Amino acid sequence: MISPSSGGSSSVPGTIVIIGAGPAGLTAGYELAKRGDNVLILEASGVLGGISQTVERDGWRFDIGGHRFFTKVEEVEALWNEILPPEDFLLRPRMSRIFYDGKYYDYPLKASNALKNLGIIEAVRCVLSYVWAQIHPPKDQSNYEDWLVARFGWRLYRRFFKTYTEKVWGVAVRDMPADWAAQRVKGLSLGKAIINSLTPKRNQKEITSLIEEFRYPKLGPGMMWERCAERIEELGGSVMLKHVVTDIHYANGVAVSVNAQDRAGNVHSFEASHVISTMPMNELVKSLVPPPPAEVMTAGESLHYRDFLTVALVVPQESGFPDNWIYIHEPSVDVGRIQNFGSWSPFMVQEGKTCLGLEYFVFEGDRIWASSDDDLIAQGTRELATLGLVDPSVVEKGYVVRVKKAYPYYDTFYKENVETIVRFIDTAASNLHLIGRNGMHKYNNQDHSMYTAMLTVENIHGANHDIWAVNVEGDYHESRSTTGRDAPILPPRTNS
Ligand SMILES: Cc1cc2nc3c(=O)[nH]c(=O)nc-3n(C[C@H](O)[C@H](O)[C@H](O)COP(=O)(O)OP(=O)(O)OC[C@H]3O[C@@H](n4cnc5c(N)ncnc54)[C@H](O)[C@@H]3O)c2cc1C
Repeated sequence: MISPSSGGSSSVPGTIVIIGAGPAGLTAGYELAKRGDNVLILEASGVLGGISQTVERDGWRFDIGGHRFFTKVEEVEALWNEILPPEDFLLRPRMSRIFYDGKYYDYPLKASNALKNLGIIEAVRCVLSYVWAQIHPPKDQSNYEDWLVARFGWRLYRRFFKTYTEKVWGVAVRDMPADWAAQRVKGLSLGKAIINSLTPKRNQKEITSLIEEFRYPKLGPGMMWERCAERIEELGGSVMLKHVVTDIHYANGVAVSVNAQDRAGNVHSFEASHVISTMPMNELVKSLVPPPPAEVMTAGESLHYRDFLTVALVVPQESGFPDNWIYIHEPSVDVGRIQNFGSWSPFMVQEGKTCLGLEYFVFEGDRIWASSDDDLIAQGTRELATLGLVDPSVVEKGYVVRVKKAYPYYDTFYKENVETIVRFIDTAASNLHLIGRNGMHKYNNQDHSMYTAMLTVENIHGANHDIWAVNVEGDYHESRSTTGRDAPILPPRTNS
């Protein structure tokens, strides 16, 4: 990786500058380098892979979350295979359960397991509560809570929707508007799955359509992105770590140069024939020079994010569990999901031990975010004990990783704000391309982030794809489930 020693301008004419070395930026860099373009990738952090990096601590490797390699986009699958040889991929069975009220529910739900856990009395209560809701549905179903209750009854709603949804998004389900749900949760949903699992078999095809296995690089997703960066440099491109892009200069309708600051505080300026950005849109707006009109600045300031932190705890292998992850619907603990990285790849953990990743969905600066690492490790250890999962005395070590802007926040106005920014960029800097997840403020997974990069490279070479049409809401991943990665429309956040 290149690192200029002092300030100054270091790009050759015609260089395409890419902001960010996550999946989208690296894919763009690789595709451009293959076509013989001059490519320079500027990455703020010291690590490749963005949110899809593999964190390394004392020889332990773990993901931010857990990154399944699953896609319906053939071009993306082909690219993964081009970068990593088959022997570096594992095919992993997917196993996950829901923990609630001291019980583990198979997910996707199975009738026998759900009945056993609920017990016959509670199962009957759930069905009665469901029937009651069908006869007396809440009158006002404009909020997500009443919308769900109308469809599944209070008991199923409380057990399988309320706590987890509130943990992930940090907002009361009652305060979430229902129109998102009306569009998205019309097919398979967890509540419906429960009803299905308690009644004679119908719609089983829908339920089994949830992904049962996935591919995974044996050393974690970071392995893909480390190899991708190597390939870019072999092809003549450059990847500069620890370079934060601070300014994007534009004039006469095009972006002309990019400034980046290194860790010593030196500012480097790079001329650019095109700029591809994966940096968060709100930060991009602030970096534009000259500053855009007030309405564009306001649109940028009005974009918000949900942040994330993971507490990785090293425990003996026998204290792990067979699942890749467990959803924690239990309201008495803050942890939302627990990964067992040993179940993702035996190559990520050390002999006889495993590493559990406790996931906390947070807002930057809130109580959990602001806790010290020691306190978080203690909290994680305590919560594992509360859940009856791991005896605190066997926890050997812990690590904390905080991730800002893990999830773009979809509030009632986000679309308008994104459109205002995009409209401005289209006219003020038509060669500034926004791609990826935070780059487009869109709930893109790795594959869709990569695909927006691939299409943008083709656009630079004369094609005319609409990358905003890359569909995150289609029949994809778990996007229609309630414990996966769906993104509800949320109440507006203030800038406090
Ligand atoms: C908990 C969790 C679990 C997930 N699980 C999956 C999964 O199972 N499968 C899947 O496919 N996807 C998953 N995803 C989504 C996946 O992580 C993202 O889609 C993907 O990382 C987005 O790639 P990107 O390149 O657009 O952005 P990012 O990964 O965010 O990368 C952007 C890069 O830009 C850099 N950057 C930002 N600002 C600047 C600046 N000013 N100057 C220079 N560099 C800058 C950042 O440091 C970062 O490295 C998950 C996400 C989360 C949060």
